[in-house]
Amino acid sequence: MAAERSYDAIIIGAGQAAKPLSMVLAKAGLKMALVEEKHVGGACVNYG
Ligand SMILES: Cc1cc2nc3c(=O)[nH]c(=O)nc-3n(C[C@H](O)[C@H](O)[C@H](O)COP(=O)(O)OP(=O)(O)OC[C@H]3O[C@@H](n4cnc5c(N)ncnc54)[C@H](O)[C@@H]3O)c2cc1C
Repeated sequence: MAAERSYDAIIIGAGQAAKPLSMVLAKAGLKMALVEEKHVGGACVNYG
């Protein structure tokens, strides 16, 4: 069984919005997790 982990905030999807949002929250002291199902960077970088 996998070990349990806890976070203050979890961002689902590593698209354009995820990096600035996760940086703001991390700088505010929150323990962050970022989850991406396909390709980091989102729609514009990978498909645009
Ligand atoms: C063809 C195309 C061209 C574009 N050109 C431009 C442009 O020139 N200039 C401009 O400003 N904008 C452009 N855009 C728009 C721009 O891509 C979006 O406005 C921007 O990507 C939105 O960012 P976002 O973080 O909200 O979502 P996205 O970048 O779409 O990221 C969402 C992420 O979430 C992930 N995800 C979704 N569901 C889950 C899940 N259940 N679990 C885990 N991960 C998940 C996806 O895989 C994706 O990586 C273009 C878009 C397209 C499609």
